[in-house]
Amino acid sequence: MGMAVRPIVVWPDPRLREETREVVEITDEIQTLYKDLCETMVAYQGIGIASPQIGVPVKMFLIDALVALGDENLPPVAFINPEVLGTSDELEKCDEGCLSFPGIYVPIERPVRARVRAMGLNGEIFELEGEGLLARAIQHENDHLTGKLMVDFVGPLKKRMIKRKLEREAELDDVPLAGA
Ligand SMILES: [Zn+2]
Repeated sequence: MGMAVRPIVVWPDPRLREETREVVEITDEIQTLYKDLCETMVAYQGIGIASPQIGVPVKMFLIDALVALGDENLPPVAFINPEVLGTSDELEKCDEGCLSFPGIYVPIERPVRARVRAMGLNGEIFELEGEGLLARAIQHENDHLTGKLMVDFVGPLKKRMIKRKLEREAELDDVPLAGA
C-alpha cells in the first residue's frame, strides 16, 4: 500500500478535540499512519504534524528532523505516546502557526525549554530536550494529542476573528472554478 497525502482537518472541526488513544504496538497500521503523516506534513510545508490533524485519534506526532535533530537528511521524527517530562520556568512569546489554522499566526507564550519522552517507530523509548523552536514544536504538537489548540490561548474576540477568517476561506474554496 502506497503512502498518501491526507486532507488536513481544519478548526473548528470537532475531530481536533477528539480523545486520542495510546499506541500499544508498532503495527503496519501505525507504520502507514507515520508515512501518511510524513507525506502530508511535507505537502503542506509544516515542521510538525499530529495524528488528529489527519483525522486519526492516535497518540503520535511528527517533527521535522532538521528541527528535532538538526539533520535535514533524516526522515521526520515520530513521537509515539509522548509525555512532556518538564519545561523551563523561563518563557518566551513567539508567533505560532498550525496546519489546522491555515494562514493564521498567533503570539503564544510558552516555556523556552521542554523535555519529552516518547516511543520511536522502532518501539524504543527515547528522551529529547529541546530549546526554542524545538521546545515550541514539542509543546504545540503534544497539545494536539490532548485536544488543546492555538485558539485556547487567545481571548473570545480574537477567537471569533479567527473563526470568521477560516470560514471565509472555506467558502472561497467551495466556489467552483469556471470550466474546471
Ligand atoms: Zn498544530
